[in-house]
Amino acid sequence: MGLNKKSVDDINAKGKRVLVRCDFNVPLKNGEITDETRIVAALPTIQKLINDGGKVILCSHLGKVKEGPNEKESLAPVAKRLSEKLGKEVVFVGDYSVTGEAATKAVEAMQEGDVVLLQNTRFRGAEETKNGEQFSKELADLADLYVCDAFGSSHRAHASVEGVTKCITAKGGENVVGYLMQKEINFLGNAVENPVRPFVAILGGAKVADKLNVISNLLEKCDTLIIGGGMAYTFLKAQGYEIGKSLVDNEKIDYCKEMLEKAEKLGKKLLLPVDSATIAAFPNPIDAPVEVEVYEAADMPADREGCDIGPKTAAMYADAVKSAKTVVWNGPMGVFENPTLAAGTIAVAKALAETDATTIIGGGDSAAAVNQLGFGDKMSHISTGGGASLEFLEGKVLPGVAAADDK
Ligand code: ATP
Repeated sequence: MGLNKKSVDDINAKGKRVLVRCDFNVPLKNGEITDETRIVAALPTIQKLINDGGKVILCSHLGKVKEGPNEKESLAPVAKRLSEKLGKEVVFVGDYSVTGEAATKAVEAMQEGDVVLLQNTRFRGAEETKNGEQFSKELADLADLYVCDAFGSSHRAHASVEGVTKCITAKGGENVVGYLMQKEINFLGNAVENPVRPFVAILGGAKVADKLNVISNLLEKCDTLIIGGGMAYTFLKAQGYEIGKSLVDNEKIDYCKEMLEKAEKLGKKLLLPVDSATIAAFPNPIDAPVEVEVYEAADMPADREGCDIGPKTAAMYADAVKSAKTVVWNGPMGVFENPTLAAGTIAVAKALAETDATTIIGGGDSAAAVNQLGFGDKMSHISTGGGASLEFLEGKVLPGVAAADDK
């Protein structure tokens, strides 16, 4: 899919103040970054703007900031890591107002090729998350041009993603997307709109309700839809199976029936687990030892809980992956946080790692699982945005993409 939006290649950044919205929402433990994927993914756009002689002003959110601005959710560790990666100073404006006097002064002092990182945009609370006009304007006042490269946040119409673009337009500036946005949308867009077939889509995770539109949309686009994880049991119940104490959404049984009919009507394969790894009670903590018994779908006892696909299902899903030319995967096949219940997720990850097909991981838990297993570099593309990639796979237009200027 060609993205008909202006990109960083279409602007002249020399001497200009360029505000770049990145997704630096990295996991932290005791103030240390535990996974730098999102920082590394942002580098090509930042480096390009530095090389072009732009004054590069970076902004991002970090965490949920539920209790107001605080040092634990400061972007300071990101500034440090970014500076190491770029091999040059990143001036961090730690002021909690994000766009206040300190930011204005730091930007005024910038030379061509300098980099400034503003504080966590969520420190402005609802002004950020409710797309506030005043905060949008303050962000835009710092810059001449705006680049959205925050794929992981591009499904949110927040001030630093959406509102700011209106203010940049109002003063005659341009809004464009960065290289990461382009790459994400090209991979996901091509897979869904123009896949090399057979196209196999794999959906897992906890709840059917979270993925209603993804299921429906992917069923239309793919050749085979594979369902695993907790959401499979609502489908199995819809088919009349006993599912014991497995996760179920009784309000979505009719929806699952509809999807089963839709698959049949469209001549698509919809694969469901034929066996499950079951446990007597959910582990607490989640990785506590558990005793597993495997049951075929038709033999599930009423007092067991299905927490992973069984070995027959894993082999069947791996076979389906082997015959594919394009695979999109979102959501684990079981409670993969527990080593005893991770076998199904590992089997699917391994099948993806071993195929020559184009393999795309839709972020979130499946991306974490693939990386933890050491299969990360075997995949064609691992999305940096779980929620954003899901909304994209639903066929929704992402606000962060829509806000960029058309070519
Ligand atoms: P994200 O929202 O981060 O992108 P995701 O889309 O990959 O994640 P979720 O829908 O959040 O997936 O579901 C992941 C969770 O589903 C995991 O914590 C896993 O333990 C849980 N899960 C998977 N299978 C089962 C099951 N059979 N029973 C209960 N929970 C399950």
